[in-house]
Amino acid sequence: MSQKTQHFGQTLPLNEPAKRMSIMTKPIGSACNIDCSYCYYLSKEELLGHEKGCSSQMSPDMLEHYIKSYIEQQNYPEIVFHWQGGEPTLLGVNFFRDVVRLQKKYRPKGVKIENNLQTNGTLLNDEWGKFLSKNNFMVGLSLDGPEMIHNTYRTNRSGRGTFKQTMRGVEVLHKYQVNFATLTCVNNISGANPLEVYRFLRDVVRSPQMQFIPIVEPKSFRDTAPQHWPESEVLFQGMPETEPSHPNSIVEPWCVSASQWGTFLCTIFDEWLENDIGQVNVPYFEACVESWMGRVNPLCVFAPMCGKGLAIEHNGDVFACDHYVYPEYKLGNINDVALEDLQFSKGQQEFGNAKEGTLPKQCRECKYQFACFGECPKNRFIKTLEGESGLNYLCGGWKQFFTHIDPYISMIVATMGYPVHKGINADAMKIRFK
Ligand code: SF4
Ligand code: SF4
Repeated sequence: MSQKTQHFGQTLPLNEPAKRMSIMTKPIGSACNIDCSYCYYLSKEELLGHEKGCSSQMSPDMLEHYIKSYIEQQNYPEIVFHWQGGEPTLLGVNFFRDVVRLQKKYRPKGVKIENNLQTNGTLLNDEWGKFLSKNNFMVGLSLDGPEMIHNTYRTNRSGRGTFKQTMRGVEVLHKYQVNFATLTCVNNISGANPLEVYRFLRDVVRSPQMQFIPIVEPKSFRDTAPQHWPESEVLFQGMPETEPSHPNSIVEPWCVSASQWGTFLCTIFDEWLENDIGQVNVPYFEACVESWMGRVNPLCVFAPMCGKGLAIEHNGDVFACDHYVYPEYKLGNINDVALEDLQFSKGQQEFGNAKEGTLPKQCRECKYQFACFGECPKNRFIKTLEGESGLNYLCGGWKQFFTHIDPYISMIVATMGYPVHKGINADAMKIRFK
């Protein structure tokens, strides 16, 4: 009989590897009540061959099967569900009441279940506020900045900005003390206004956590899967056509450019460092501390491996990652294959290992490889100056950012009393701590 240990009352064999999952769940597919210009998910219905006019809502049977499988096939004391869209609040509060009921039904004794809900906030009202608060949902709210910036791309179907409705959602979250984080898309407009965006989120929204997502999409993103870009369309780093503003750009005009992204991050980092460190949570900055300490960065984009976060569509189709919902990256359907077999399949392991395994020489020799790991592979669609494919479109921006924060992150790590294992001060700080 194997040795056992206890986690929250759940008995786990010590020699059994931890089985933990993280799946972006799309219970309403790509259906949304608004029509953001840069949405990477609106085109999925056609791409995935879902029949037009068919309901893209997860059926009650599928929902129960999924919740049961997701719980039963993990042996971890804490299980987190991630609900995303499209716009999941279109399903109504009752759908999520059912979710909570089913989670209670299948929850083993002592296991803690949590829920994250990503929303544009426009449909949140008192009923939602009470439900989210009572059931301790963590909400990710998409909000791009002050009104002019938010309304540039986050519009409804008639082209009107959604800022006012989203801010009503913010009021609901504060009123009912719902845990939330803001998720801000950094595009060519918000990217040019870093301080306006940051100060608005800090002072007006009072965002407890600020997540920033660089908006990067090649023009072919609606029907061409990452890593399937035609070689002839892969341009060298620094070519004018890599700029979103170029008339023949390879990316959509609303994308953030590499240099804009670097300047955006450096500018808000300086503001954070001077005024808000310890008060405002910016995961990019806090996670870098881990990298400089020599640990694996908790954010997947900066980690050496992918593959731990899958995506599931409303019909049970499972994909390698939320950013890889393309037919080429479909792992299977949970009606045919057990979720854990999909998660731990050979294909998914290869997908995960490719993040580090396919880095071009420029990344392998980069002094910030330890912090960057080539960032997300879906953005690796340019060539290095030596002509090697697989370089990240944002490389220049990431290098600018890591170079800028290096001495400050070293100081933060040292102030916390830990040795600095990475970056320009690594050796000096190690000697200090010997
Ligand atoms: S593909 Fe990108 S988003 Fe998906 S796990 Fe890898 S780094 Fe993360
Ligand atoms: S900064 Fe650029 S060269 Fe360095 S690891 Fe990141 S993408 Fe590669």
